[in-house]
Amino acid sequence: MTEEQDERIKCLIIGSGPSGYTAAIYAARSDLKPVLYTGMFIGGQLTKTSDVENYPGYPDGVMGAQMMENLHKQASRMGADLRIGYVSAVDFSELPHKITIDEKKVIMADTVIIATGATPKWLGLESEQKYAGCGVSACATCDGYFFKGQDVTIVGGGDTAAEEALHLSKLCRKVYMLIRKPSFRASKTMVHRIENTPNIQVIFNVEVRDVLGDEEKVSGARLFNTITGEESTLNVTGFFVAIGHHPNTDLFKPWITMDDAGFIKTKNCSTNTNIPGVFCCGDAQDPVYRQAVTAAGSGCMAALDCERFLSAMEHDSDTQ
Ligand code: NDP
Repeated sequence: MTEEQDERIKCLIIGSGPSGYTAAIYAARSDLKPVLYTGMFIGGQLTKTSDVENYPGYPDGVMGAQMMENLHKQASRMGADLRIGYVSAVDFSELPHKITIDEKKVIMADTVIIATGATPKWLGLESEQKYAGCGVSACATCDGYFFKGQDVTIVGGGDTAAEEALHLSKLCRKVYMLIRKPSFRASKTMVHRIENTPNIQVIFNVEVRDVLGDEEKVSGARLFNTITGEESTLNVTGFFVAIGHHPNTDLFKPWITMDDAGFIKTKNCSTNTNIPGVFCCGDAQDPVYRQAVTAAGSGCMAALDCERFLSAMEHDSDTQ
């Protein structure tokens, strides 16, 4: 592609989860004429969940996929240019930023909003995927409510697993926390809370060999004790996995400052990254909250930060 064919835009948004679409809605309403590329997995993580009951404004809940379709329609109605495609390369060395789409098209953008999300890690069992959305979940805050009064289990010994186990303990009759090592990875405070919650039972040195079910929904888990070599069955109707998330940020590593896990670092309660004109919102920068509503909120922030950046840029060029 020649220089003449390169497209020049004010605002490019990468990603089509709640943060990306919300950024697109706000940026379009500010007349930034945003272009959003959906990525390979249109709609992001929420399209994989069933009912969403904790997103404000939906009194009867909404299916995750429906909510993403609504956000897509809303962003489109506001005038955002929504395109199917993925970003294959970025060059943030100077303004405007250079972004390659689908390994061929080049876009020059004054601002870029990274909204690429994060992918939950799974154990890698076939049965885990078979029952995904039918008793298997990677988000207790989202799905715990559906297991009210039931016995459930959560895999993982980090802060996320601990926090989610505590959340589940308020809803469920019994919560089994399965940890593969003889100790927690979670902080002392969280461990203390877990140990003082009567309906949480921690089982150490245990691996999950299989998620069991009746072909429609989860009925238990087959466990393997790594010390004794014994196998056992745990009867549960909910199976939660909280073994970490992988932020979808590898593409930006050469340019953007990140933490050790790859979550993008934003500055001073804003969505600013270390690169002028590049902003980040949603799960790609959030190892802690990871909710649709917090992602959407930070998408709004990113669009406002973008608008401010562009106004300052225009003001500087007018006064030169
Ligand atoms: P972590 O990486 O901290 O913990 C992951 C846990 O899952 C570990 O216990 C790990 O075990 C286990 N695990 C990993 N892979 C497997 C597997 N294949 N089978 C079984 N178990 C497995 O991830 P978190 O999501 O918990 O936390 C990420 C970061 O976010 C941390 O820095 C955490 O402190 C932070 N955080 C902070 C919160 C807060 O401040 N309120 C809330 C949530 C997260 P092992 O130890 O054996 O590797």
